[in-house]
Amino acid sequence: MSIEQQQGQPTDKLTQSEERFRALVNATSDVVYRMSPDWSVMRQLTGGEFLSDTGAPISDWMEKYIYSEDLEKVRAAVSEAIRTKSIFKLEHRVQRADGSIGWTFSRAVPILNNEGNIIEWFGAANDVSERKKTEIALNVAKELAEQQKRLYETITSSTPDLIYVFDLDYKFTYANEALLTMWGKTWNNAIGRGLLENGYEPWHAEMHEREIDKVAETKKPIRGEVSFPHAQFGRRVYDYIFTPVINQEGVVEAVAGTTRDITEIRQAEITLAESEARFRNMAEGSNIYIAMSDETGKIIYFNQAWLKYTGKSEQELIDFNWTDLLHPEDRDRHLSIYQDAINTQLPFHDSYRLQASDGQYRWLLVDGSVRRYTDGSFAGHIGAAVDITEMKEDEQRKNDFISMVSHELKTPLTSTLAYIQLSKKRISPSEDDLTHSMLLRTEKQVRKMTGMINSFLNLSRLESAKIEVELVEFDVGGLMKEIEMESGTTISSHELIFHPFETACVIGDYEKIAQVIQNLISNAVKYSAKNKPVQIYCSTTGGEVQISIRDEGVGIREEDLPRIFEKFYRVHDFETRNISGFGIGLYLCSEIIKRHGGKIWAESELGKGSNFLFTLPVCGKKSSATNA
Ligand code: ADP
Repeated sequence: MSIEQQQGQPTDKLTQSEERFRALVNATSDVVYRMSPDWSVMRQLTGGEFLSDTGAPISDWMEKYIYSEDLEKVRAAVSEAIRTKSIFKLEHRVQRADGSIGWTFSRAVPILNNEGNIIEWFGAANDVSERKKTEIALNVAKELAEQQKRLYETITSSTPDLIYVFDLDYKFTYANEALLTMWGKTWNNAIGRGLLENGYEPWHAEMHEREIDKVAETKKPIRGEVSFPHAQFGRRVYDYIFTPVINQEGVVEAVAGTTRDITEIRQAEITLAESEARFRNMAEGSNIYIAMSDETGKIIYFNQAWLKYTGKSEQELIDFNWTDLLHPEDRDRHLSIYQDAINTQLPFHDSYRLQASDGQYRWLLVDGSVRRYTDGSFAGHIGAAVDITEMKEDEQRKNDFISMVSHELKTPLTSTLAYIQLSKKRISPSEDDLTHSMLLRTEKQVRKMTGMINSFLNLSRLESAKIEVELVEFDVGGLMKEIEMESGTTISSHELIFHPFETACVIGDYEKIAQVIQNLISNAVKYSAKNKPVQIYCSTTGGEVQISIRDEGVGIREEDLPRIFEKFYRVHDFETRNISGFGIGLYLCSEIIKRHGGKIWAESELGKGSNFLFTLPVCGKKSSATNA
């Protein structure tokens, strides 16, 4: 029955029907109330369990029942209902009988008289506190979830890693920016779809489906590696992890996954492994002894060849000092060369004898090149050594041969020279001028030959470390005088200028020093044009005697200068191509001077001339001369 139908009925009938209506409303509502036409007076309220009853009319119902913050809202809704004479309907907060705040859904209908004026409002309200509470909680939860989602979105969209979630039907419920980009898809046409639909090849989709099942079943994450094509970058290698998403009941609800592109890492690993294999091949399989040191010079790697050679394990070689295996005569020299190379961070070259597993020493020629870290800084050396024992033995045999031949040649030459001298004495120049001068020239040639043979003999003696310097004190002035006189008779092609020299006591081997000076003078003559002057100086400075032989000859190129004292080194150019020699002279000179603890060097300018200088310690000075 509607309220409108009741209008215009006699009062008793109306009361009757109103009572029935009230009973119905009472049964379905928590609160029933009556209001004066302008809502200023609440005539009656039956509040049930919800609100406290009001028997007599009250005008402060608003303050009594309505929650202060909702007063405004209620007033507005009331005046709107009065104005339009239509149903009042509002959800608002109320003060409950127990003092707490509750939510109510309240409706009121206007009762009109025959003139159409409101005579009363009849209202009913329900307690909706519980529903409202859940609604609010739900909203809060929703808001939180939104916030979380935005947070995850921010994180997952800024990583190159692929992040996604599957439901247990293998459908994607989430995919981050990177994954969508990889697929070349948008959120709307990718989410809610399966692997095949998102472009995975069948084998790949099936593999992941099996893995999703497995994660759901075991509740444990799994990890894998897979290679497949990327929309933009071609074939790539990926490392992925599937993790179960477990709810409060302990049931797996979804499977979350992250995938990382490891193509570059894999590529770098492969390259490294390849170069390592190449290096090992090179290092292990050959007769090359390879060792590697760190930046402090400590050896950190020895190859198989080293282990075989020494009969020791790599750890033994690293832990015990491998340098103990060096020949006592080579040890100090090599260590100083090696230490220099570490200090200067430069390559090194040397040869030394190293004790092999059978106790014998063998010769190794070692070449150390510099290792660097990727940033270019010094990382140590890689030393590669080869066995040159046989080469050394060949050289020794050759030296022995030269020595023997030279020695054998000397005897007949000595007798030849004796015969020439005898013949010279028997022929006076006035008698047979021609024969006499021929004998003189023969003598000169034989002496030249003797000189050459002597230098070979000296060389082989030197090689077998048999050259001996007899260190005595003598006056270098006297020596110079003797040389001046002697060369005056033997050299007529050039002007020899001996500058004044003082007497000075030096410590040395008289014969050998004489040999050095004669050698330098004969080179000066040999490498300069006829009649060019050769100047000889001798001076004393700072505890040393310095002798210099200066010519105005062909000169020596800058790049040849440091090498001319090497054994067998000869300059090959247009100027010197017709000048004979063996490249032994300067080598012998330098070895002799070194054995005296002196220095020898040359200064030169091509086409202008050369100056050869050497020093000798004076008497009383401590000399570092050796008699090796
Ligand atoms: P060689 O028997 O060839 O003269 P040396 O050992 O005496 O051997 O000299 C080595 C090389 O040094 C020579 O081949 C020559 O090129 C160069 N040399 C030596 N002395 C002179 C000099 N005074 N002027 C120019 N070049 C010289």
